[in-house]
Amino acid sequence: MTTLTYGPITACQICGSNDLRSVLFLGYLPPVNTMQTIGTAHDKQEWFPAEILRCPECSLVQLGYAADPNVLFPPDYPYRSGTTRILRENFADLQREAKALLGLTNKDLIIDIGSNDGTLLKNFLDGGNRVLGVEPSLNAKLAEDMGVETKMTFFGSSVVEPILKSHGKAKVITAANVFAHIHGLDGIMKSIVALLEDDGVFISESHYLLDLLTTVQYDTIYHEHLRHYSVTSLRFLLERYGLTIFHAKRIPTHGGSIRVYASKSKRAVNASVAAMLKEEEEAGLQGDAWVKPFRDRVLHSKLALYELLTKIKSSGKRIYAISAPSRASTLVNYVGLDDGIIDCVLEIQGSKKIGKYMPGRHIPVLDEAKLYQDQPEYALLLSWHIGAELMPNLKKRGFKGDFIVPLPEPRIMKNASFI
Ligand code: SAM
Repeated sequence: MTTLTYGPITACQICGSNDLRSVLFLGYLPPVNTMQTIGTAHDKQEWFPAEILRCPECSLVQLGYAADPNVLFPPDYPYRSGTTRILRENFADLQREAKALLGLTNKDLIIDIGSNDGTLLKNFLDGGNRVLGVEPSLNAKLAEDMGVETKMTFFGSSVVEPILKSHGKAKVITAANVFAHIHGLDGIMKSIVALLEDDGVFISESHYLLDLLTTVQYDTIYHEHLRHYSVTSLRFLLERYGLTIFHAKRIPTHGGSIRVYASKSKRAVNASVAAMLKEEEEAGLQGDAWVKPFRDRVLHSKLALYELLTKIKSSGKRIYAISAPSRASTLVNYVGLDDGIIDCVLEIQGSKKIGKYMPGRHIPVLDEAKLYQDQPEYALLLSWHIGAELMPNLKKRGFKGDFIVPLPEPRIMKNASFI
């Protein structure tokens, strides 16, 4: 077994090619979930290079630096799947779809990698399946409280034997918004294959490269995201381990993701697979024609946002930002926003981020109630990818100002559009 090392990535994470080409370098960024407590003296912290690279061999777009997962995913990792409506609905849909496609029975074991608070697996548990989560953070305890059995550890080769002994093989292994996050793909893939039954199925959900490119989602570039998958690069990866993609579809999570089914045994391949591969080919993902226009759009978008915000601030108006998802850390750090431009970031009551500073910044994260008390002129949507849901909700709760949507192109959305 090779020991994993963290640091610069010099060989493609899928095919091993050393011919990696730079797409975009955002500078150095702090880990998105390392937030210092308001009122304590600022301590030193690590920043890591944030460059994405393209592999011309297998077309994987990937980060150029692997940070230590113990830094990225500490026990008090604040993300909770169950707090986002779109994720709850997506996981209910995943269970319905998997059940219909695979004809699951009560004997079947479903393992979820990165199971977080158990939101995904609860659907399978309620559907009558046996379930097991693998999750290193303390969110595992929330899953256990719901009856979702969870191993509180990182998924990898060390969990294979214990799981085979205690639970046997799995009919389905799911990995939602985590399959792009784990360093050491070879070990992960071998572990998945070893844990799957002969007719078992691996279902991954990952943020989609095509959506990243078309809607300029540079804010999804951070150290948890080691790989930005397309169906093309996923097929290349999965086939190396004997898994065949038989169904793929777009799903709305995280500003645009893909759900991909791959099996060990032969299954009829849904037309969706060829359709998505064709769309990616037409978008030129296998070549490099997209690189320069994408880089230009990112720069243009950053400059336009900075200009818009500084104009507003120079006229004496207040800008409060709404919500502090991981991607907000990249946006504020890359664009260079500080507490002179954004007065504060607001999170809903109960968020573990309240009372902290934004990573790498002096911008305080406070309770959303402040928005309705202070009525700033503008609310900058850092969760812009769920803006259609967010804006009417903020209006209903009493916000009277206008919205600033930062991406893909910064723009002001007037109050009246949401009433
Ligand atoms: N799957 C959930 C979802 O889609 O909402 C959680 C996604 S969250 C971005 C990533 C989760 O994977 C975190 O809960 C993190 O602690 C966990 N994680 C990170 N590395 C892991 C690993 N090697 N094995 C298992 N879980 C891991």
